[in-house]
Amino acid sequence: MKIIKKIDEMRSTVSSIKFQEKSIGFVPTMGYLHEGHLSLVRESIQKTDVTVVSIFVNPTQFGPAEDFKEYPRDLDRDSEILEKEGADYLFVPEADEIYPQGYKTYVEVHDLQEKLCGRSRPSHFQGVCTVVLKLFNIINPDASFFGQKDAQQAIILKKMVKELNLELKIDVLPIIREEDGLALSSRNKYLTPEERKAALVLSKSLKEAESMMEKGQRDSAAIIKRMKEIIGLEPLVKIDYVEIVDMDNLDPVSRIEKEALAAIAAFIGKVRLIDNTILRAKE
Ligand code: AMP
Repeated sequence: MKIIKKIDEMRSTVSSIKFQEKSIGFVPTMGYLHEGHLSLVRESIQKTDVTVVSIFVNPTQFGPAEDFKEYPRDLDRDSEILEKEGADYLFVPEADEIYPQGYKTYVEVHDLQEKLCGRSRPSHFQGVCTVVLKLFNIINPDASFFGQKDAQQAIILKKMVKELNLELKIDVLPIIREEDGLALSSRNKYLTPEERKAALVLSKSLKEAESMMEKGQRDSAAIIKRMKEIIGLEPLVKIDYVEIVDMDNLDPVSRIEKEALAAIAAFIGKVRLIDNTILRAKE
């Protein structure tokens, strides 16, 4: 696996891959890799000829009071893992390579970026869209792989790709969880053992939502009430939001007709975690 730091070198590498008429699969990440990231890398390796992974802790998607500085980083460990998986290229630009001094161009997907996580992280999705579009322009992938874990991000990026007429496929893959249900996240590293245990109420409440659907419940308010009760059992967990929303426009739905996204964000101590599930009504 070749590690590339400079945009120019990444571009000339992409040109020679394209010249050989090989397809490019791209997996953008912020590093500190876990099985969730690796599920995307494996899918890319399987589906495309050449897999490029990027690791870039993107400063523009963190708010001023957020954990940009503390975000876990371990490039040696990550590159070893990716090498073993069989990724072809690892792109690790410096922040000033992506945002040189005087940088002023940002991409926004209005409305969607203001919902769910956008309420407590007002410029987050602007940062995500900007960096992902820049990476798409540098790497020119045929397909790019994202996790359902960041459901709102995937929905917003799909809309950006469609509306800006980008010629690539966005593949969204299922959430990878620990055996006890906790969704894998680079931020789980910050949890104390006590907090980690408390964090299980998030996945538990989503399971309960699924089981209520199974039993025929279609009323969002009833499901949300029960989810909040479960999360409320853990005093260490502070809810940011619990919502059931339409999968296209992210507006709250009062009744789940076919499918809807049940999404949670919560603080466990200082750590903000998100989780979700797609609720599907049986035919
Ligand atoms: P991040 O490094 O957190 O920016 O995540 C990079 C990619 O990995 C995003 O597309 C995430 O949605 C995806 N991802 C993160 N955690 C998981 C998980 N537990 N399961 C599946 N995909 C994940």
